[in-house]
Amino acid sequence: AKDEGRNNYQFYTPSVNQEGIERLKMETMLRHAIERDEFVIYYQPRINTKTRELVCVEALVRWVHPELGMIHPKDFISLAEDTGLIVEIGELVLRKACMQRKKWTDLGLPLFRISVNLSPRQFRQLDLPEVITKVFKETKMDPSLLELEITESAAMQDVNLSILMLRVLKDMGMTIAIDDFGTGYSSLSYLKKFPIDVIKIDQSFIRGIQNRDSDDAAIVRAIIVLAHTLKLDVTAEGVETWDQAYFLEEQNCDEIQGFLFGKPMTPKTLQDWFKLEHT
Ligand code: C2E
Ligand code: CA
Ligand code: CA
Ligand code: CA
Repeated sequence: AKDEGRNNYQFYTPSVNQEGIERLKMETMLRHAIERDEFVIYYQPRINTKTRELVCVEALVRWVHPELGMIHPKDFISLAEDTGLIVEIGELVLRKACMQRKKWTDLGLPLFRISVNLSPRQFRQLDLPEVITKVFKETKMDPSLLELEITESAAMQDVNLSILMLRVLKDMGMTIAIDDFGTGYSSLSYLKKFPIDVIKIDQSFIRGIQNRDSDDAAIVRAIIVLAHTLKLDVTAEGVETWDQAYFLEEQNCDEIQGFLFGKPMTPKTLQDWFKLEHT
């Protein structure tokens, strides 16, 4: 039997591609990670630009592998998306986030929202509203404390379907944010049709606002004016310097998020951060 195995191995070698094996390994590892509950959620604060109050925390998933340690989303989200595993991962992120919100309520923390990222694939699942309803029931979550982040490019994939889905989600009481705004191809007319509440300006534009005469500064100004015309709130992502924060405050950007105020952190660290900032 051993010899046969060897022969088979030789026979198949030329057709097996190394990248394929790696992907398959990763996919198997991801499945195990779901079964063994190896995902943890970090939370990043988003604050009101003027009052500095905490308005929302973004749930950002990390995979803690028993041997490899912490794996960041850039190293597994796209594979999860391609294989469809993102649907399960997304649901467990949502459940963990809702459970965390409940814990914070019980600890007496104020009623800031939690935002959860929806992948393009999740957003296209027609049973998404049902899944969310189920999780709300299980965790006794108040829908008004949940914000959903959908990337601009995902929302633009099938505009009419997006509008229908967003309407249902919004009618359930959630806040809807368009993530990574400015990197897709939406035009003003689409933005007007989407039933949304918040747009998050992509961090690639924020980097460039250091120079007030730059294209990035002009784009950020224009996005803020446009959003306010449409009665939307604006969040800037990736704010790292006071200079950027002051510019955004001058331009009436409603909320800011970035390393300047807090990195993504564990629930415990976020509680300590909150005490430090707010007492
Ligand atoms: P995103 O939704 O745009 O999230 C913001 C990312 O920017 C986070 O990276 C965050 O750590 C990082 N960031 C925040 N402030 C700053 C800053 O001041 N400077 C810099 N350089 N970076 C900053 P992270 O946590 O590695 O997540 C990367 C991406 O992975 C997210 O981008 C999101 O697209 C995706 N992701 C994370 N968690 C989930 C999830 O639960 N579900 C889905 N579908 N995607 C997720
Ligand atoms: Ca996001
Ligand atoms: Ca983003
Ligand atoms: Ca981004």
